[in-house]
Amino acid sequence: MATNDNNKFQAIIAHAKEYGFVFPSSEIYDGLSAVYDYGPWGSELKKNIRDYWWKSMTQLHENIVGVDAAIFMHPTTWKASGHVDNFSDPMIDNKDSKKRYRVDHLIEAHAESLSEKEAEVLLAAMDRLLAADDFAGLKQLIEDNKIKCTISGTGNWTDIRQFNLMFKTEFGAVASENEDDNIVYLRPETAQGIFVNFLNVQKTARMKIPFGIAQTGKAFRNEIVARQFIFRMREFEQMEMQFFVRPGTEGEWYKFWKEARLQWHLSLGMPAEKYRYHDHIKLAHYAKEACDIEFEFPMGFKEVEGIHSRSDYDLSQHQLYSKKKLQYYDNDIDETTGKPIGNYVPYVVETSIGLDRMFLAVLSNAYEEEVIAKEDGTTDSRTLLRIPPKIAPIKLAVLPLTKKDGLPEIAREIMRQCQDEFYCFYEEKDTIGKRYRRMDAIGTPFCITVDHQTKEDNTVTIRYRDTMTQERLPADQVMALVKGKIR
Ligand code: ATP
Repeated sequence: MATNDNNKFQAIIAHAKEYGFVFPSSEIYDGLSAVYDYGPWGSELKKNIRDYWWKSMTQLHENIVGVDAAIFMHPTTWKASGHVDNFSDPMIDNKDSKKRYRVDHLIEAHAESLSEKEAEVLLAAMDRLLAADDFAGLKQLIEDNKIKCTISGTGNWTDIRQFNLMFKTEFGAVASENEDDNIVYLRPETAQGIFVNFLNVQKTARMKIPFGIAQTGKAFRNEIVARQFIFRMREFEQMEMQFFVRPGTEGEWYKFWKEARLQWHLSLGMPAEKYRYHDHIKLAHYAKEACDIEFEFPMGFKEVEGIHSRSDYDLSQHQLYSKKKLQYYDNDIDETTGKPIGNYVPYVVETSIGLDRMFLAVLSNAYEEEVIAKEDGTTDSRTLLRIPPKIAPIKLAVLPLTKKDGLPEIAREIMRQCQDEFYCFYEEKDTIGKRYRRMDAIGTPFCITVDHQTKEDNTVTIRYRDTMTQERLPADQVMALVKGKIR
């Protein structure tokens, strides 16, 4: 597959809609830009990815616990975290079309039309100017390269300005003299709900450093250039874990989580060759190290998760703004002094993954239009989702061959036995071939067919999505077989 396979990407988007995975939000009103709804199978898949992450963080680590913090937070949270002042992107407007662009996206899109060498030079210049916050220089770069608006076709640009990505809303019904008193933000990341609860969690769960706090939940960003389906949304979900460590040990924990998080992706059944790290060279002033885990989407390698070594920046900022101590008393003995290490503000290594982006990674990796060679020399085709069985929306389809002769009753009985253990789907309409294809299209890894032989010897046919092979097995072994394969 080409690295930038737009046809495949468009096919995935259409498939996601047609088969009940992802719909444009409020579609009957023509949708809302960069906001999406998850349908019946999409919401199952999303939940399964979330559950898999949650279990791997909390249940499988005795030193990581979870929280579920509110989306609304005290407005000072966002002053302390730096989001009010710094969470912005440089933007430029085309005066003729009034279309607004994120400067880096505008330049990157232009670079795609250049030769590899020219693109490299242009992007290096852009990176340099962005790092220096040199907006005049960036505008000059756009003009020198004769970059045009895709709508108006002109290069009639405004100056570059910063645009804050946080959504604001008003809190409470009482109008205040000072409007700012009522302003609250929709959180642009889940992490701050963890930082402000650091002591509550540490004390109540009696955690000892090193320990982590995990959270999944919605985040909101007023992304300017919202494109690429669920890759960049205005309302999305994050799965974040803040790992609190003793200062001086953050380097080894950063290495640990960088490796552990990539392994998590692979343990889900994703292919190693579609992953790579991108180490950040330009770091925030407080950051020690940072990298992205990138996945090869149809539109190329892009960030799916970030690992950041953030020093004591967040806790110290909240300590400063709240005037409350956010420290940990470490009673381990310091080898040099022979005394307890004592109080400090812990350092943090965070892992932050977008659930929707992970969903898109799973979906684009799973999507396949397969050509099947038939015995008579002709070919057939099918569209299937090779979703790893452990996160597939439906694990098992139970299909009676016909609607009569007592087959539906037997099939329903098998379904009843299995549905408490994993998600099953019953269907008796259409030919068995059509039903298999529908299950392939939504990624159901196993189908069983109940036929007349079942009445004689209580065996069923199990059919495997990926290979389309079929075998006969006793009906009472179905549950154990499927359970074994979805672990
Ligand atoms: P990008 O550079 O793509 O805007 P980011 O570096 O700002 O992402 P982080 O702030 O590190 O992203 O957020 C952590 C994760 O949250 C990202 O790796 C991504 O998976 C997810 N994420 C961030 N913004 C969005 C968005 N607008 N839509 C969907 N997922 C997002």
